[in-house]
Amino acid sequence: MNNVLNTRKCPFCGSLNLLEYLYGFPAYDYDKEKYILGGCKITDYQPIYMCSDCNKDIFLENVINIQIIDDTIKDLENNSNACKLVYIESSLSEQLLKLIKYFYDEDLVDEDYISNYEFIKNKKIEELTLQECLTYFTYIIRLDRFSSGYIYKVVSEGILLKLLERLRSILR
Ligand SMILES: [Zn+2]
Repeated sequence: MNNVLNTRKCPFCGSLNLLEYLYGFPAYDYDKEKYILGGCKITDYQPIYMCSDCNKDIFLENVINIQIIDDTIKDLENNSNACKLVYIESSLSEQLLKLIKYFYDEDLVDEDYISNYEFIKNKKIEELTLQECLTYFTYIIRLDRFSSGYIYKVVSEGILLKLLERLRSILR
């Protein structure tokens, strides 16, 4: 899976001087002002950046806004109109729109979601990793463009709530 974040601030010291980890063995000369080698072993839990100022490793979970996920979970639990079907289109609450906008703004979208979805389609939501949750979320919001009412379907079946709760439990 690819790294999904672009330019970030260090969540620990606020520095903008972040080096992005490159994994695997780069076949090209990389810019040492921008990148740092992370080694060849690819695991599910590896940092995305290293802060040049405080030297801390920064993981995806350090940069995701937990509040916005909590707010959306509350919205889905308490607002029966969080997602409605209007004619054949999904009509989303302000909070759901905010979450989707956040995903796009923060580049949490998995550009390889079509191929990555193949690996997770038979997995239980409770077993998804952080990256896989982002893949699934991308799949849901992208599919709604081609398959009208898809978000409504996953909301009414409780799938979106489950997915956000899974995300929340990983980030805790
Ligand atoms: Zn720092």
